[in-house]
Amino acid sequence: MTPTPTGAVTATRVLVLNSGSSSLKYQLLDMDDSSRLAVGLVERIGEETSRVVHTPLAGGGAARRERTGPIADHGAALKAVAEELAQDGLGVDSPELAAIGHRVVHGGLRFTAPTVVTDEVLAEIERLVPVAPLHNPANITGIRTAQAVRPDLPQVAVFDTAFHTTMPEYAARYAIDVETADAHRIRRYGFHGTSHAYVSRRTAELLGRAPEDVNVIVLHLGNGASASAVAGGRCVDTSMGLTPLEGLVMGTRSGDIDPAVTFHLKRVAGMSEDDVDVLLNKKSGLVGLCGDNDMREIRRRIDEGDEQARLAFEIYIHRLKKYIGAYYAVLGRVDAVVFTAGVGENAAPVREAAIAGLEELGLVVDAELNAVRSDEPRIVSPDYARVAVAVVPTDEELEIAQQTFALVTGAPAEG
Ligand code: AMP
Repeated sequence: MTPTPTGAVTATRVLVLNSGSSSLKYQLLDMDDSSRLAVGLVERIGEETSRVVHTPLAGGGAARRERTGPIADHGAALKAVAEELAQDGLGVDSPELAAIGHRVVHGGLRFTAPTVVTDEVLAEIERLVPVAPLHNPANITGIRTAQAVRPDLPQVAVFDTAFHTTMPEYAARYAIDVETADAHRIRRYGFHGTSHAYVSRRTAELLGRAPEDVNVIVLHLGNGASASAVAGGRCVDTSMGLTPLEGLVMGTRSGDIDPAVTFHLKRVAGMSEDDVDVLLNKKSGLVGLCGDNDMREIRRRIDEGDEQARLAFEIYIHRLKKYIGAYYAVLGRVDAVVFTAGVGENAAPVREAAIAGLEELGLVVDAELNAVRSDEPRIVSPDYARVAVAVVPTDEELEIAQQTFALVTGAPAEG
């Protein structure tokens, strides 16, 4: 909060909401110093055993609170969040709240930047439901719910796809019949854009250079995983496509696959469309290959000599290497390869294995630097390496808050 010379309160808080089909994640930030005042999560919305986990962080932070009991819908979930925040003196009715920022997964081609939500904007997000059937409906519900609570406040949509809208047409278009593609809006959109934007900018800072002068390959390796090629701060290619299924091997998604596999499964294995969808999105990737999708568990099994876990790891790394090579070629000159998200930030063996053998590309990992555990952005390649290898923790909520605040105050969005 910043008091003005007249004593009036300047609103500097932003509530960030990330609404899933049965969950609501939230963070309250103060943009005066980008600090977090509270974070939390409502899960299993619509079930008897809904759970609210709330952690106050302001002023040293009180203890984390948790309660379970039925929460019928997103409206009730946001009400529960508002009650938790009010208990910490951070109520959503406060004049210090400047805006509510919403993560929206699919913004199609229309939304290239954060956007203040109007009826027309909501209708457009709704029009994109066919290309994001799992995500956009939940995001819309979240926005409507927040509008009902604070109709006077700007609600800002920050799109996962926005950062990727700078991709050239030759990278975004699939080589299929143009009329069919356009009629059904089939093209590469890419996801995790908020993370790729934040991490590529932070990497430039880490290198002490302006984002416009730096070419970066970003490897966002979480349970979902995607790679992007960022030239001078603009995305020029990314591995996820029409949906988040394409690209890298992920926790439960196959990533790249011959599309004919799907016809084959239908014709030969008698599987339905939904069966194939579930197979490729939920039962593939690391979990399909070895039964585990947690990299910690996979590494533990490898250490015990488990061959299935080793093969899963090798397949994961092989795909990662292919994308590093492909994006190296796309960019021509690379200044940094940067790892982020749960696996990228924490799994030193993944970073080591993905970069191993790429010395000819100027890529080397320093074993000691790579082994250091830290929450800070850091370089893990030796000084002599031509290309930096970096670890930069992602912070999608901070990025959403910054973009939201910048939009409603007219300030530049810079972290
Ligand atoms: P995210 O989707 O970014 O939250 O990442 C979640 C994934 O990160 C988990 O499924 C794990 O595979 C991985 N992960 C988290 N912590 C560690 C760790 N300490 N070592 C290795 N992998 C980790």
